[in-house]
Amino acid sequence: MNFSSKLLENAVNEFSRLPGIGQKSALRLVLHLLNQSEQDVNRFSEAMSQLKTKIKYCSECYNISDDQICEICASHKRDKSIICVVEDTRDVMAIENTNQFQGVYHVIGGLISPMDGVGPADLRIEQLLERLRKGEVEEIILALSATMEGDTTIFYLYKKIKDFNLKISTIARGIAFGGELEYVDEVTLGRSIVTRIPYERNIA
Ligand SMILES: [Zn+2]
Repeated sequence: MNFSSKLLENAVNEFSRLPGIGQKSALRLVLHLLNQSEQDVNRFSEAMSQLKTKIKYCSECYNISDDQICEICASHKRDKSIICVVEDTRDVMAIENTNQFQGVYHVIGGLISPMDGVGPADLRIEQLLERLRKGEVEEIILALSATMEGDTTIFYLYKKIKDFNLKISTIARGIAFGGELEYVDEVTLGRSIVTRIPYERNIA
């Protein structure tokens, strides 16, 4: 692409680094921004830069939060004896949308994937065990994707937590999780959380 302006080229290059955005789409977005008022563009760029500087991770569950402790962990209405383990913040959002879960979460931040060089130490598994050692948790729901990486991670977690004397369950398999979870309809996802399956039965 031949640009008439270096500034235009820089902006297009930044947009085209985003997943799923090619140069043509990037150019369309940049030209759209250029037609906005200065105020609108400032608000846009401020929202982007604050993403990195202001957003925190909850020190309990590691969900994305504006505060040290997220709203879910801080709520007195939530049952702290049930932890739902999920891959990332999209899963928390999808489960919250079902209004079927009153416990709290633990966001591990990925799945074990030797192919991608992601091992257990790269995930927030030790932090989960730390929460369990406090002795207040009675049940763990392993709500990870039904992929090979999800299965590997669930089995690894199971081995780590089985001696804590907890109820361990998974949600119905076949539910697309991880990146795809947000597209699962709320009724199906909500039902699979309510009718969760004890994990031991799965591996028997
Ligand atoms: Zn939290």
